[in-house]
Amino acid sequence: MIVVTGANGGLGRLVVEGLKSVLPADRIVAAVRTPEKAADLGVPVREADYDRPETLAAAFAGAEKVLLISGSEVGRRVPQHTAAIQAAAQAGARHLVYTSAPKADTTSLVLAPEHKTTEEAIRASGLPFTILRNNWYTENYAQGIAQAAQTGSYVGSAGDGRVASATRADYAAGAVAVLTGEGHEGRTYELSGDVAWSYADLAAEISAATGTEVRYRDVSPEEHKAILDAAGLPEQAVETIVALDRNTAEGTLAGTTGELRDLIGRPTTPLGDTVRTVVKDA
Ligand code: NDP
Repeated sequence: MIVVTGANGGLGRLVVEGLKSVLPADRIVAAVRTPEKAADLGVPVREADYDRPETLAAAFAGAEKVLLISGSEVGRRVPQHTAAIQAAAQAGARHLVYTSAPKADTTSLVLAPEHKTTEEAIRASGLPFTILRNNWYTENYAQGIAQAAQTGSYVGSAGDGRVASATRADYAAGAVAVLTGEGHEGRTYELSGDVAWSYADLAAEISAATGTEVRYRDVSPEEHKAILDAAGLPEQAVETIVALDRNTAEGTLAGTTGELRDLIGRPTTPLGDTVRTVVKDA
């Protein structure tokens, strides 16, 4: 039986969907913080709150494999993930798969330290593991794309830094391949899109999708912060966006490895496809 945590999230739902196309639904468990939101998943649902270890022990009972999808509460994830790793070990799981961040052990990426510590805890647990170091989701840019389609400019402070993003569906397919395939234990995969694109490339794709000219307006980190503050974003969100653009400028997200394409046996979804979908749905 395969247990998927965070199964109500954007990535988790796609993983459950993908597993259902390969395995009988009763061999999959959706482990979720909010069971009432999971009724439509079409697989058995168990409560699993990273903050309440007793729920994790029950959720992982009988699991052969656990996909630990990293939590979304930045700053609280080390104790949360540690509790999940311990629960997976106590449940006797034979394979723990974890969604991490690109080059989590060496990068300057601001969101990586919790992933690095989690990876260390996984290695120390003695559990057979696979680390999926997912690069950025192309969908992270959806709001910016929709806004740029309206205003004619995409504003950022990443210079000509590049992002090797792929879609959630691509990463979900990678997770399904690892969970249902052989020979992935002990591996750490650097998963990325096939192509690293710049914000100027993104603006060009938005132009193509809308039929109107959209330009990338590169500003200093200070100006970027002032623009986001003026737009009313919470301080923490502003700090994170500006820090991530600094990381992007440094090339932190630019690595293309081909490992995701190899895992899923097809090219990753092109940037233009996601941009067209976002523009159509906006
Ligand atoms: P979502 O925000 O869509 O889903 C996160 C899920 O985590 C939610 O279903 C949420 O449960 C669950 N969760 C949060 N806190 C807890 C908790 N204490 N106990 C149990 N479950 C919890 O994220 P995605 O699915 O899109 O992404 C998966 C993960 O990948 C994120 O959580 C984050 O760590 C990381 N990420 C990666 C990005 C990238 O570009 N590579 C971008 C964004 C996130 P509930 O439904 O109850 O709220």
